[in-house]
Amino acid sequence: MNDLSATICAIATPPGEGGIAVVRLSGPAAYDIAEKVFVPVNTRKKVQEAKGYTAMFGHFFQAGRRMDETVALFFRAPHSYTGEDVVELSVHGGGAMAQCLVEALIAAGAAPAGAGEFTRRAFENGRMSLTQAEAVMDIISASGRQGAALGLAALDGALAKKIAGVQAALTELATHIAAWVDYPEEDVPALQESQLTDTLTRSRTVLDDLIRNYDAGAVLRRGVDAALLGRPNVGKSTLLNLLAGFERAIVTPVAGTTRDVVEQAVMLGGIRVNLFDTAGLRETEDVVEAEGIRRSYKKLEEAGLVLAVFDGSEPLNADDLQLAARCKGKPALALVNKNDLQQRLELEQLKPYFRKILCLSANDPAAREALGDAVRELLGVTGFDPGAACLAGERQLSAATRAQSALNEALEAAAGGFGLDAVSVCLDDALDALYALTGERADEAVIDGVFEKFCVGK
Ligand code: GDP
Repeated sequence: MNDLSATICAIATPPGEGGIAVVRLSGPAAYDIAEKVFVPVNTRKKVQEAKGYTAMFGHFFQAGRRMDETVALFFRAPHSYTGEDVVELSVHGGGAMAQCLVEALIAAGAAPAGAGEFTRRAFENGRMSLTQAEAVMDIISASGRQGAALGLAALDGALAKKIAGVQAALTELATHIAAWVDYPEEDVPALQESQLTDTLTRSRTVLDDLIRNYDAGAVLRRGVDAALLGRPNVGKSTLLNLLAGFERAIVTPVAGTTRDVVEQAVMLGGIRVNLFDTAGLRETEDVVEAEGIRRSYKKLEEAGLVLAVFDGSEPLNADDLQLAARCKGKPALALVNKNDLQQRLELEQLKPYFRKILCLSANDPAAREALGDAVRELLGVTGFDPGAACLAGERQLSAATRAQSALNEALEAAAGGFGLDAVSVCLDDALDALYALTGERADEAVIDGVFEKFCVGK
């Protein structure tokens, strides 16, 4: 379905203002098409003769008219991103020139690239695995530096290497079993039970670690939605302003000032946190305020992180205790605010409901760092190595989980004395799931799904 004989082109840089815009051209006719559109300033230079990894300066032409100054970068198959002949043409940014260039290339015989088509070609030409292709997407959309580092690790093939190690060990085991079962008359050495369980256990441990790290990795890549909750006047808006670094919410000493959910994305401890500042929680007769409070509690249920704020200068009241009770079992952090004032709040009363309690003052800029550390700890990303192999996305997680359960079944079959036939069936299932993960045996619909998420130009 993916026609590799066409030569495709698209703008590879994001839309909007920018110094340069890059148009990428890839496929068997890349040099023929580039020659029709791009004319080097040095007339002795010929596009057709350009070697890979070289550049030329010139202009591009549209309908016979000389257009913008252009730098052409040449790549020769298979040493390019897609594994095909590639020419990258850089023109002045802002989009208009790049658009004219794309039109000129199409007039000269190129086809407009579909979403993710360049990366799909890289995958189909064996330049990268499916997990690496997904990493490209991660890097493009990563919100924080660590998220990008994670994507880079995957692009580097950290995950692919780890999975390949497991695949090799399991394949060897499966081959041994098959030889032993199918050719009893041959002199195949018997498989030691310890060898069998060792290999299965080691492989499963690799998957266990990857699956456990998935949530932390997802937090670093995509960030987390956080609800900021507390009764009126505990200091939620002050805290939001401290985190956002400017006056985002209206801070007043009048209770009930924040009546709806205010959203603000902030970086906290290297994590992108989408903060939802909510209406103060208290008993109320006011319908508008009551609706705000209903929404606040809804956010509490949905959020990946709950920041419950309490006023440390006052004893806990019924509204505080109601909030605390709702936080039980949630990824919730208790923030006991106003610790510059005399403390009247009993921390012991909060302990049963929260995984972590932090005393701070929203007026103190140093609170930001302490809060960042507490959030990292709560979300399990402290000590997380962004350079380590990591599963990216639900698709990879579900394939890894499938392989993990197949290995569990194999271990049970081995322990229960069900015979090597049963173990062998489970091993095949595990290998199938792992090949689906890396894309070596993923079906067309899965691959389409992965590349549909790409933006055009990648
Ligand atoms: P919200 O209703 O929970 O959003 O609370 P606000 O952020 O509007 O704060 C209510 C009042 O508490 C304001 O007068 C703030 O200046 C004050 N406040 C907030 N944080 C602190 C703090 O850490 N120490 C002290 N002393 N006052 C604070």
